[in-house]
Amino acid sequence: MKFVFFGAPGAGKGTMAARAAVAFGLPHISTGEIFRAAMRAGTPLGLRVKAVIESGGLVSDELTIGLVRERLGEADAARGWLLDGFPRTLAQAEALAGFCPEDFVIDLEVSDAKVVERLSGRRMCRGCGRSFHVSLMPPAEEGVCDGCGGELYVRDDDGEASVRSRLEHYYRQTAPLVDFYKRRGTLVSVDGEGRADEVWVALEERMRGLIASAEA
Ligand code: AMP
Repeated sequence: MKFVFFGAPGAGKGTMAARAAVAFGLPHISTGEIFRAAMRAGTPLGLRVKAVIESGGLVSDELTIGLVRERLGEADAARGWLLDGFPRTLAQAEALAGFCPEDFVIDLEVSDAKVVERLSGRRMCRGCGRSFHVSLMPPAEEGVCDGCGGELYVRDDDGEASVRSRLEHYYRQTAPLVDFYKRRGTLVSVDGEGRADEVWVALEERMRGLIASAEA
């Protein structure tokens, strides 16, 4: 089954897709994490996207679409996938519909106030990319990832100016995709406002229902 996790920065796409990957045995493919891993490793891709990501802008459609297309062609994605952070523009959504159409788009709905609260306290693992929050989702040991023991850090694009820019891009370029997916009949709205465990309980049940109905 092929799921797109959709929503504003801080809506919980990464957290929910990571849980769904374990629950449903599907690969979690995060374009943001692919870019961050490339930046950490200092690859040509990482050097190319660093400035635009740190300023809160969007990487070009051409580059991002090519990357996702290649990734979805890998063997582990043959049975399905969980896309997180892609598509973010109409061109990306149209490209995906052409080369590997989604079954469902999980739209995690959150208020602006919640987005700002989540992003301002977010901590991310340098090792595995897992997200935490200083008060809403703290790790067992401060500064250390519960999953892999890696060091937690503040993302370069979680500063105030970058967050403002990311939200502007979201409302201008990404939020309009809701209508695109409504028209395709694949949009599934989920209340993403609560704590991660609460959102996940409702989401897992919803996803099980969607999978069962699609397979019936
Ligand atoms: P994320 O981890 O999804 O918040 O992504 C972090 C940053 O990576 C974004 O703010 C963009 O700069 C870049 N990025 C991730 N996915 C995309 C995409 N689909 N299109 C363009 N830029 C992206």
